Amino acid sequence: MKKLAVCLTLSLAALVPFGQDSKAAANFTDVGTTHRAQAEIYYLVEGGITSGVSETRFVPEQQVTRGQAAAMLGRTLNLNGEQRPTNFKDVGKNNFASGYIKQLVDKKIISGYPDGSFKPDKTLSRGEMAVLIGRTFDYNASSVSVAASSLMKKGIASGVADGSFGETQTIKRGDFAVFLSRSINADFRTADNEKFDRNLYVDTKDGSKLNLRTGPNTSYPSIASIPTGKIVSYAYFVGDWAYITSDNVKGFVHTAYLQGDKPSDKPEVTPPPVKPDPTPPGKNPLSDITVVIDAGHGGSDPGSSGNGYIEKNITLNVAKKMEKYYAKVPMKAKMTRTSDTYVSLDARGAYASKVKGDIFVSIHTNSHNGSGNGTETFYYSRSAAVNPNVSQSKALATYVQNRQLEAWGLTDRGIKVGNWAVLRQNTVPAVLAELGFISSKKDMAVMGTEAGREKMAKGLFLATLDYYYYYENRKDVLPLYSTVNATPSGKLH
Ligand SMILES: [Zn+2]
Repeated sequence: MKKLAVCLTLSLAALVPFGQDSKAAANFTDVGTTHRAQAEIYYLVEGGITSGVSETRFVPEQQVTRGQAAAMLGRTLNLNGEQRPTNFKDVGKNNFASGYIKQLVDKKIISGYPDGSFKPDKTLSRGEMAVLIGRTFDYNASSVSVAASSLMKKGIASGVADGSFGETQTIKRGDFAVFLSRSINADFRTADNEKFDRNLYVDTKDGSKLNLRTGPNTSYPSIASIPTGKIVSYAYFVGDWAYITSDNVKGFVHTAYLQGDKPSDKPEVTPPPVKPDPTPPGKNPLSDITVVIDAGHGGSDPGSSGNGYIEKNITLNVAKKMEKYYAKVPMKAKMTRTSDTYVSLDARGAYASKVKGDIFVSIHTNSHNGSGNGTETFYYSRSAAVNPNVSQSKALATYVQNRQLEAWGLTDRGIKVGNWAVLRQNTVPAVLAELGFISSKKDMAVMGTEAGREKMAKGLFLATLDYYYYYENRKDVLPLYSTVNATPSGKLH
């Protein structure tokens, strides 16, 4: 359906006096109604993704620099553009794009040069543009020619006069605006091959309606509101936003309000805590045991992403579900984070020691550009560098891996030695569970559902019981299994 693009194209000039937002009032004397990129430039300006060089001039014929491209792509993904130091000798904290450059480098979307420079003022080439857009929007961008052919197939860019893609040619601001708008909103494209063929439920958690917007951030106006519980179909994702259709209207919604399972309105029932068996001689009571649950990433560090999901959200969701299981038993759980906040790697290990944790379970999802899939668990094995608990960590990893496989039945990638900071800089037995691959459709078929994540949380909980039951030889753990109608696994370490 081309309605949205037509509407935007025709209405922008007319909309100005009635615009919902003062940003929509931009009016560039050098981007008139007949300019080839008029609709696209105003679309990006409306979302705050780009702006003029002044209130009245956009200079569409000027070349785009690498720094400007980074800022526009960063804003497209709603990254935090707060200026900050980078590792590049020529991008200081004061560079206007330093925050976006830093974040895009962390996400492996953009990179610098072998000499340690970024060259933010260098003009961008069409080849670089194709790769950057490809990586930003998760197209196949393994090389310039592959990225260029993705853009051409999708109707985002076409070749130049000589029939090639013109990968060494530079790009004007106006043309970059066209390519970026088309990447964001398929209604601008010259080919119509996006399919809205995957369904998700709207779940606003509080019963309110979900705004459907014309672009992937809240600066874009809402064109419809969708009731919670409704099924919508999506074509693709732009950062944390999904391009969906609902009642024949296309637009963008935030993925925090979409899920694979039908929202439930039943309150959760917590059974009363169980009474453990007497504490074995020479051991502390079970109530002294603290399991530290570490939801990987968070805040400005999203981790990996794929299939419309972001690692930091999945890890927090599973961590919170896991935490609930400890409410029914004497053992305690402590969380390194309970919301979408940034916690440094150093602080995570330090937290375990601060709260007198006994074991540490870090939750992550894997990612791969190809067909990688499955579950694996890491522990740290260098002798006594910082974390001396090698055999304990290995035993815990064994039980964690076993329960994960039992929960989801994904490919067994085994337990592995991993030199991860959260494991190395820890003073208690510590493991890092890679639940599955966020990039794998097969893995996301379970990881993407509430029911699947509940099974995983229960499995991780049971793994900690198994560790105490077998490795620490605590028979008083046995009654705790009954809280989830489970029994100890076989002895594995
Ligand atoms: Zn991770």
